Amino acid sequence: MISYDLHTHTKYSDGRATVLEMVFAAEALGLSHIAITDHYTDKNNTWVGKVSEEIEEIRGKFSVKILKGAEGAVLNEEGGISVDKKIRDKLDLLLVHMGGEAKGIAKETDKLSKEDIIENITTAYTKAAENPLVDIIAHPFNIGYYFDIVVEPREYPIGNLKRIAEVFVKNNTCFEIMNNIWWWFPGIHPREFTRQYIELVRVFAKVGVKFSLGSNAHSVGGVGNLIWSKYVIEKTKIENQLIEPDIFVK
Ligand SMILES: [Zn+2]
Ligand SMILES: [Zn+2]
Repeated sequence: MISYDLHTHTKYSDGRATVLEMVFAAEALGLSHIAITDHYTDKNNTWVGKVSEEIEEIRGKFSVKILKGAEGAVLNEEGGISVDKKIRDKLDLLLVHMGGEAKGIAKETDKLSKEDIIENITTAYTKAAENPLVDIIAHPFNIGYYFDIVVEPREYPIGNLKRIAEVFVKNNTCFEIMNNIWWWFPGIHPREFTRQYIELVRVFAKVGVKFSLGSNAHSVGGVGNLIWSKYVIEKTKIENQLIEPDIFVK
């Protein structure tokens, strides 16, 4: 089984540990790769140089390969993101997520129906996936906790999912199987959420989408925690559609 973690946070954004501490955890676990992917937003955009330096300094001292990454934000239903080319060029890989910044999805949704929101999510994901700067969509369909309107995985029309999936394939954009995505859905029983998410992943798998693994760890204890992700992989039989993280190593 492939064992890598392409989604982690440090003190440079909202994580609790240093880069070195996160790498220690990855090395102790015998992971092949760890990506440091702090949040890159308008309010937190000065860390890329510092993280790069720290990574350069410790690369070679560990067998785990350390990737310089960032987690950008989708800003609106047109799929605009918080990271530009100048920043992306300094990184090995870029994740983007849908979070509280997304206009027409997480905020400014007053006049929108759930159907409108689903269309906006579909457009935002397809546009973000078409963006050549973007490698991985982090925890897709996390439209739950702190969003104005919750959209359960089962509520997406299959046609919308297929539309997104085709764009992922065409642009080589990965779908992250994030270990703790259930966190966004405190209103759904975790078993039920898992069942729904597995069905959604199956749609993407059938179209030929590639998947990546991430813990979204915000502390050393979370590094490499991919138990739920691996359960989903097993149920959907997508092991041979997981990306090989060496593609991001420069
Ligand atoms: Zn975070
Ligand atoms: Zn994250």
